[in-house]
Amino acid sequence: MTPASPAIVWFRNDLRVGDNPALVAAIESGRPIACLYVFDEVTPGRWRMGGASRWWLHHSLLRLAASLERLGAPLILRRGIAHDVVPRLVSEFDAAAVYWNRQYEAFAVAQDTRIKMRLGAMGVEAHSFNGSLLHEPWTVKTKTGEPYRVFTPFWRACAQLGLARSPLPSPKRIAPFAHAGGENLTQWRLLPTKPNWAVGFEPEWTPGEAGAHAALIRFLEGPAATYANDRDQLGIHGTSRLSPHLHFGEISPVQIWAAAHNAPRAEKFLSEVGWREFAHHLLFHWPNLPERNWRGSFDAFPWRTDASGLAAWQRGQTGYPVVDAAMRELWTTGYMHNRARMIAASFLIKHLLIDWRAGEDWFWDTLLDADLANNAASWQWIAGCGADAAPYFRIFNPVTQGERYDANGVYVRRWIPEIAALPNNVLHQPWQADAETLSTAGVRLGQTYPYPIVEHGVARQRALAAFSSLRSEI
Ligand SMILES: Cc1cc2nc3c(=O)[nH]c(=O)nc-3n(C[C@H](O)[C@H](O)[C@H](O)COP(=O)(O)OP(=O)(O)OC[C@H]3O[C@@H](n4cnc5c(N)ncnc54)[C@H](O)[C@@H]3O)c2cc1C
Repeated sequence: MTPASPAIVWFRNDLRVGDNPALVAAIESGRPIACLYVFDEVTPGRWRMGGASRWWLHHSLLRLAASLERLGAPLILRRGIAHDVVPRLVSEFDAAAVYWNRQYEAFAVAQDTRIKMRLGAMGVEAHSFNGSLLHEPWTVKTKTGEPYRVFTPFWRACAQLGLARSPLPSPKRIAPFAHAGGENLTQWRLLPTKPNWAVGFEPEWTPGEAGAHAALIRFLEGPAATYANDRDQLGIHGTSRLSPHLHFGEISPVQIWAAAHNAPRAEKFLSEVGWREFAHHLLFHWPNLPERNWRGSFDAFPWRTDASGLAAWQRGQTGYPVVDAAMRELWTTGYMHNRARMIAASFLIKHLLIDWRAGEDWFWDTLLDADLANNAASWQWIAGCGADAAPYFRIFNPVTQGERYDANGVYVRRWIPEIAALPNNVLHQPWQADAETLSTAGVRLGQTYPYPIVEHGVARQRALAAFSSLRSEI
């Protein structure tokens, strides 16, 4: 190791140059910088990146590489198990230190510990930072020093802690470490080809740091003012659509907080960012959150095995227009409106009595914002087995939910063209339309659009019976 030995900045879900604590600290060390991204498909095990996320990653890495190049340093790409690749690169480059921003999934925490130990044994410095949360999960504690289990006091405690730091400026220049090059992104084959099921993503999204900030500005200058009212309306873009940007760390919650907290009526929006913090808090303190019922009493829940029901749900063919619109929005755009996620998830769990983990898996593969903490916490919340969860017996009626949150049918007509010509009064329940209305609209139930795969009243009673079989255990 010499004064010319580089510092490695290991990028993960922090694909940005602005407000990047690890990058700033590495630059401040005065050493030349080697910027690294490792595509590790092994360490996350079952939670390796899903198909939609890979599409985002490809585009986000292209943007990050271009930004780093402009600042003077190339992005080095390597594939492999990170706890092998990082120490190997340290030896190859004779590096003096490695800098990274922390993640909170159990596999990432275990890997960080392992890498820190290996680097320590090699006499190499390891520096990790908080780059993705307002507060580290272990710094927000109840009076008795316990993690929080309920959102409202958790968020109040976060507010009392205040903002831990201000956003860090983007570096003006990075002194690069001269090295022998990395791998080629296209060889990682992150994009789907045959067929290219991601064509619908392109008009909707601009991955990368600039796209993230543009989305934030668009939101603050427009929908933010009416967010509290409009966020549940399915037919409009009334929310920020920042979730994939936040997941991949193209923008930090600190930057969002700094930009939004003085904006009028930003409280509700920031409290949703608070739910993201809470989900990460839960995941850190209950690392099994993605796999195990947070309330163990649900372990005895009598889930059904229903392959055809699951397939109908996945394909948007349940016969309930709002559920089907939600699932088709997901498939086409890689995103689903939050209210639609709640309705679709509730339908799977309560109308079909399918284990929430089957829905979690499908979302994991198809969402661009698939995030282990947010996805697991939200599915458990809907199922009623999670922290601060909706009670199990609150069973959404997909017809009334559709009528309330898509009253003009904009959302359903956008995603289910085969019933678009139905009038509003039967759009959310086509089976109630008379023969003439169906015929005028060109709808042949059971042929062009399915009958409901389960009747709401029957499904509701079945769900309540399943739940009461459990109540004796609670
Ligand atoms: C069954 C189910 C699964 C979900 N899976 C995911 C997931 O994998 N990844 C994900 O980011 N969100 C998930 N959510 C939460 C939420 O639906 C999305 O974060 C939100 O719809 C993203 O849109 P937005 O960026 O416009 O949100 P906005 O309303 O603009 O909110 C701003 C940010 O706050 C965070 N946020 C909002 N709502 C929640 C929430 N309920 N829980 C945690 N964070 C939240 C997100 O980071 C979001 O970008 C899930 C919700 C449900 C009901």
